[in-house]
Amino acid sequence: MDDSRIETLAVGHGEDPGETHRGDVVSPIHLASTFALPELDADLSLEDVDPADGQFLYSRLNNPTRHALEQRLAALEGGDHGFAFASGTSAIATAAMACVEPGDHVVAFDDLYAGTRRMFETLLRDRFDVDVSFVDATDPENVADALRPETTLVWMETPTNPLLKLCDVEAIADLAHDAGARLGVDNTFLSPYFQRPLELGADVVAHSTTKYLNGHSDSVGGALVTSDDAFAEEVGFLQQVGLGNVLAPFDAYLVLRGTKTLAPRMRDHEANALAIAEHLESRDEVEAVHYPGLESHPQHDLARIQQSGYGGIFSFELAGDLQDAKRFLEALEEFSLAVSVGGVESLVELPAAMTHEPIPKAEREAQGITDTLVRMSVGIEHVDDLVRDLERGFDAMQRAPANR
Ligand code: PLP
Repeated sequence: MDDSRIETLAVGHGEDPGETHRGDVVSPIHLASTFALPELDADLSLEDVDPADGQFLYSRLNNPTRHALEQRLAALEGGDHGFAFASGTSAIATAAMACVEPGDHVVAFDDLYAGTRRMFETLLRDRFDVDVSFVDATDPENVADALRPETTLVWMETPTNPLLKLCDVEAIADLAHDAGARLGVDNTFLSPYFQRPLELGADVVAHSTTKYLNGHSDSVGGALVTSDDAFAEEVGFLQQVGLGNVLAPFDAYLVLRGTKTLAPRMRDHEANALAIAEHLESRDEVEAVHYPGLESHPQHDLARIQQSGYGGIFSFELAGDLQDAKRFLEALEEFSLAVSVGGVESLVELPAAMTHEPIPKAEREAQGITDTLVRMSVGIEHVDDLVRDLERGFDAMQRAPANR
């Protein structure tokens, strides 16, 4: 394993000049769907075609640009096997399918990205007869209580989307393993720059590469990284043969390029997010700020131990009602009103009306996703311009009609 630091791995790992790419410093975009064989070998099996030796057969099975990215993603997360998919959603679905059969049971964090929660409910539970228990995993005891003999997968996000709750990956990995289950962690919100779940005991790490790994809001993709050989074999089968679900070469190139600046981007995202979170905490119009980098976050101590930074995403509660939140959001000029996170540009959204709208209102509110909960993905613009933009939002809230 390459023991270089993450900044170095992010720039060059997987793209070795002079080996498979004839000296290219940057991986070319290999668009070929198929590759000519040097001879007819009747005994050739798929296992004999080894991308590590520069051998490729057909691009769904493997492709040089995707292979370079998969190598890099594995190195960044400190795992042995990397896989790149057409979306974060398909990466997560593949990880789940690699672990469960009808009759099995899954334990999942109750504050997951809404799409993942919906996938677990409608695909795993309703169609594949896999029972799913959603628990408040901020307390590992709740995970312990939910585990059953038939539990084969524990699925966590930390921090969660949108409430930025954390779970103790090391403690939950021990619990899952004692119960004979695998632990998967969606590491999208922090990226491997700030958190490495495999080192904490997770069996698989998932990413929506759409977010920080690509970092420029111009590609949709997903990834899994694992060091579990048996699990990797199953994931490889699903990716290449069972589902044929792969990241296209152009997107693989974009994510490869994005990862080169992961470290400086993450440092800038975090510095801006911390400054803005502190500013918001000082405002009367804001009732609470959920950012693990603040001392007021109930799991700040866990964040300091488990993470090497706090990332660029947080949420906060505006005082008032939905109309106040609408006025605030629509007045912003630097923050675009858009779903998604992790790009260089600042984005803002209202989970109750946008990303988490599919969750019934009563359930949403029970989880803490109120009508005035705002989620921000802080970009790398100058922080003073971003703070000035927030003032526009607060001014607009003040201009609320008196008779409403
Ligand atoms: N995981 C998290 C934490 C997300 O925020 C998202 C999307 O917002 C996903 C997974 C799904 O990723 P994708 O949109 O690439 O399918």
